[in-house]
Amino acid sequence: MKKVVEIKNLVKSYGGKDYQTKVLKNINLDIYENDFIAIMGPSGAGKSTLLNMISTLDKPTHGQIIIDGEDISNVSNKRLSKIRQEKIGFIFQDYNLLDNMTLADNIALPLSLNGVKNTEAIARTKAMAELFGLSNHLNKYPYQLSGGQKQRGASARALITNPRIIFADEPTGALDSKSSKDLLVSLKNANERGNATILMVTHDAYSASYAKQVYFLSDGSIKCRLNHTGKREQFYDEILSLLASMGSDQQ
Ligand code: ADP
Ligand code: MG
Repeated sequence: MKKVVEIKNLVKSYGGKDYQTKVLKNINLDIYENDFIAIMGPSGAGKSTLLNMISTLDKPTHGQIIIDGEDISNVSNKRLSKIRQEKIGFIFQDYNLLDNMTLADNIALPLSLNGVKNTEAIARTKAMAELFGLSNHLNKYPYQLSGGQKQRGASARALITNPRIIFADEPTGALDSKSSKDLLVSLKNANERGNATILMVTHDAYSASYAKQVYFLSDGSIKCRLNHTGKREQFYDEILSLLASMGSDQQ
């Protein structure tokens, strides 16, 4: 399998000369094609900070981030926006759908921005809608959709350009348990059937149990890793046991 992202000795500090907080101390992580990785950690552990740096939205203090063999630490802003546009899909906690567009137009938006032909855009939108269980909602506007439908729509939009990697920051954070499950099953399908490569950060063991690997971030570094081998329910129990053994501050 090809390496999509390589993170080497990553450090992130905030603050000035006198007062510095090291949020991330020394992160090393490789992400391969078709991985579905969850990074878990308590609130304030630095999950969003890490994701923002890998997804080119923020810069590390030290260390390297290599995407598809290209070190993004020293590239121009113009090149960065190109990498973002061509290689990366984002799913945020709060959907970010545009209110005055139908769901279909929201999902197809990255294709329109890239100048993809209308007939092709429609076909790809339909395929994505099917993957995310949204086929019957394409003509609706965001205000006519539930939170779960909106988040699946945002996920379909993130995947439609067929990016090299999808980043998701607490994607179930604003959803009830049924909608969370629907979203996670959809992401799992995108990974298994659509070959998507996904990196998700979450504080939630249930969400993490849908991933193929879970890494535990604590005190600014990755403490351990669990591989999903058996059933999801069993993996969930393994994650909970590991969290318990790491200390209650993890939950
Ligand atoms: P998580 O997503 O795991 O909850 P964050 O990455 O948001 O954690 O934050 C990690 C730590 O970094 C927190 O202590 C937070 O206060 C701090 N932090 C995040 N962004 C900034 C910033 N721009 N300036 C200063 N401190 C920050
Ligand atoms: Mg966060």
